[in-house]
Amino acid sequence: MNGTFWIESCTYRGEGNANLIVASSKERSVIRLKKSATVNETDDLESAEKRLRQEVNFIKGTVTGFLGFYVDVPEIILCSEVEIRRLAQKIRSFRPENRLEKDIIGGYATKYPDYTFLSHHLSIAKTKPTYCVEIKPKQGYIYNIENQLPKCQYCLMQYYKVEKRNIDSPSQYCPFDLFSGEELRMKKALESLMNAPQNNFRLFRGGELIKDMKETSTEKLLSNFLSNEDDSKMLLIKIMIEALTRPFDSNSNPPKRRSMNFDGIQVARSIDVNLLNKARSLLQRLNQKCQMKEISQEGLIKKGSVLERIYKMQQLHDCPSDVIIVIYNEFILFFGTNAEELIHEDLADLCIIYASTDDIFRSRKKRLEKWIVNQKSSIGSSDKFKQISNNEPLNVNQILEKSIIGSLSVNDCFDVLGNYLLFSLARDCSIMMTFQELDKESLEHIDPLHIITASESKTFVFDVKVLDLDLKSLSCVEKHLSKRIDVLKSTISYLENQQV
Ligand SMILES: [Zn+2]
Repeated sequence: MNGTFWIESCTYRGEGNANLIVASSKERSVIRLKKSATVNETDDLESAEKRLRQEVNFIKGTVTGFLGFYVDVPEIILCSEVEIRRLAQKIRSFRPENRLEKDIIGGYATKYPDYTFLSHHLSIAKTKPTYCVEIKPKQGYIYNIENQLPKCQYCLMQYYKVEKRNIDSPSQYCPFDLFSGEELRMKKALESLMNAPQNNFRLFRGGELIKDMKETSTEKLLSNFLSNEDDSKMLLIKIMIEALTRPFDSNSNPPKRRSMNFDGIQVARSIDVNLLNKARSLLQRLNQKCQMKEISQEGLIKKGSVLERIYKMQQLHDCPSDVIIVIYNEFILFFGTNAEELIHEDLADLCIIYASTDDIFRSRKKRLEKWIVNQKSSIGSSDKFKQISNNEPLNVNQILEKSIIGSLSVNDCFDVLGNYLLFSLARDCSIMMTFQELDKESLEHIDPLHIITASESKTFVFDVKVLDLDLKSLSCVEKHLSKRIDVLKSTISYLENQQV
């Protein structure tokens, strides 16, 4: 591992609950550092490396299978405790107050290219500023069985945010418009996203986040590179539509994951029917609806475009929510605290993504065998691992073939839950669209696939990448359900107030 002395020169980029991002302008890379509430949490370097290795394998195998061109595999680096401490001090004043109780720690971290800049082979026009738009497209696909309300989850979530006073009024952005592939609807979606960015639209210039995204400042900000244009905002939307639909990855096919048959599986309703009915009738009465028709295979989104790739990943989840919550609960009962690790290992298995159903079964068997050897002491404690007839421990084949709910076996549940985590990732990921104006003379040096002619006088070089591809925690199955219930309650309360 190389020395990381340069890390002290990094600048603050942003942070979430578990990680903090710093950027190195010299290297044009970003580093994702772990955060911790206690200073001395570097004792378990080995397991930290194992966890990161798993995340990297997950991106390398599974995610790249789906998002191919749009994803770079991060590099694992080792940062010294002393350097990280100095960096922590340096960036402290740039961090939001409410995040300060946790600080960055040394140890293993991941390094990605900085997508707010173009990669070196595309970055030819040195004098022009580089812009990057980051959007979170959210959920633009729903399988029919789940289609119980006239409005989509994202749009219902807006009522929740208003009720919780996070925003003043609902955004007009609907992910189904963006994923429709129809130009007019996409235009409306992107315009709405810019008007109400919330956390789903960010603009960078020269690697710096533009904080004030009010309409006027966007116009002003863009005017210097789009100075001859009457409507710089419309030009930006044109660039974004082109970036989202350009088929950069048209030559490869995403892997097919196994999908199960859920017909005839009887489970209790996970959401109160009265709540659903009330929300539905209010939405209908106030004519609140989204255009959620499923796009056909030959639909409008271009094959190989970033939107199509994310859409395909969202299509993986086709299990009714009443069923998946039962599967989740049973799976947790069966494997206890190891449930998440087993699913994550499964998704990070580099050979699983294009493998046949039989090979996947064999691979799971091997992993489970290893797991049983390591966990010997706890294995006997659960009756789930014993045969009902003679109380003998189950062998690995019997464990994987054991029925969990209806005709679904433990092996099937690995697929259902894995698909759900992949769907969730594709629902929460970010698309980075980076572009820079190009002189006519530079045109011939750039692959035409990366060029947009936005108007008679303006040509841009651009690139598209996807970020935020972490393995989701298995508990998100449960969290998403309880959020849906909260959102329904907020929807009812919001719409009832509208009626008065
Ligand atoms: Zn919607």
